[in-house]
Parts: sequence; structure tokens; C-alpha cells
Amino acid sequence: MSTLGKIGDRVKNCTRCRLHLTRKNAVPGDGNENTEIMFVGEAPGKNEDEVGRPFVGRAGQFLDFALAEAGLDRKDVFITNVVKCRPPGNRDPADEEIESCSPYLDEQIEAIKPGVICTLGKFATGYILSSYGFEMEPISRIHGRIYAVPVAMMKIIPMYHPAATIYNPSLKGQFLEDMAVVAGAIK
Ligand code: URA
Repeated sequence: MSTLGKIGDRVKNCTRCRLHLTRKNAVPGDGNENTEIMFVGEAPGKNEDEVGRPFVGRAGQFLDFALAEAGLDRKDVFITNVVKCRPPGNRDPADEEIESCSPYLDEQIEAIKPGVICTLGKFATGYILSSYGFEMEPISRIHGRIYAVPVAMMKIIPMYHPAATIYNPSLKGQFLEDMAVVAGAIK
């Protein structure tokens, strides 16, 4: 089994935090293991918890659309979340849940060694920027910005969370523009 497959198996059986008590399915992430681009969201929602796959609901449909508009395909990238199990009622993930779950994300990044990590929303952006020594700023200010991590030969590009574009459709155009920056960053 691949390294990512083994990480996924551990995630599915994980009991590190209380979210395992209420989940239907853990959501390790999926896509191309040899990709240059990883997308990191916040945590699974109701739909993702039902099927065990990331971004399959409305936010995911818009993410798929934005990928296609930028000439990317979901099967060519790897998509995961900072927290792998659904916080009940779609509440925000708690600090201790991020702390106990994020080592899985670190292992996934280490296994994939992506050229670009695109962080979707404030939780993923806050976690990844601080992991690589950058300061978090409001997503409205830093979306679409390229943070270079020379030692890892990697770029971090924060984006709005796709769900934000559903609550606030005026963000859709910006989301598509930022996705074009992501696609351009691997060329
Ligand atoms: N929102 C997320 O952050 N991740 C998912 O997988 C689905 C919705």
C-alpha cells in the first residue's frame, strides 16, 4: 500500500480526539498522490462525513468548477483538510482538534512533497502559514498571495474557502482569479 494509503487507514481508525465519537466516516483526503498541487480545507461537512470524501457538497461543486476553469482537474490534484472528521453541526474545529489531527496533514505533505499548497479558508491558512513560519493575516488581505518556502521548494497560496463564495457570491470572481494564480504557480 502507498504511504498515503497507510496514512488514510490510520485516519479512518483514529481515536485521537472526540470527533471520532460522532463521525460516520473519517475523510483522509483523495486525489493524485504524485501531484504538484495540494488543496487543504478546514474539516468535512455533512456530505463529506456521509461518503468519506472531501468537498463533495456545494462548496466542492464550486471548487471543481474553479479547478476546471483554471485548466485543472480534481483527479490531478490532492484534496484534504486540516481536520479529518466532521465537527458536529458544522461548528468550527477546536484548537485541540486541530492539534491532534494536523500531524496527519504534515505526514501527507511530507509524502506528496507538493510544489504548491493551496489553503482554503482561515483555518487551513492559519495552520499552514504558521507551520512554515509566516504570520497569519485576514484572508481578505492575503488571498492569492504567493508565499515562497525556499527550503521545501514549495509555494503556499491562500484562497477564500469555497463555501464563502456560496454565502457571498460576489467573491466568486476573486476565487476564480486566485485559482488561476495557483494553476500558474506550477508552470
Ligand atoms: N469544507 C471543508 O473545509 N472541507 C470539506 O471537505 C468540505 C467542506
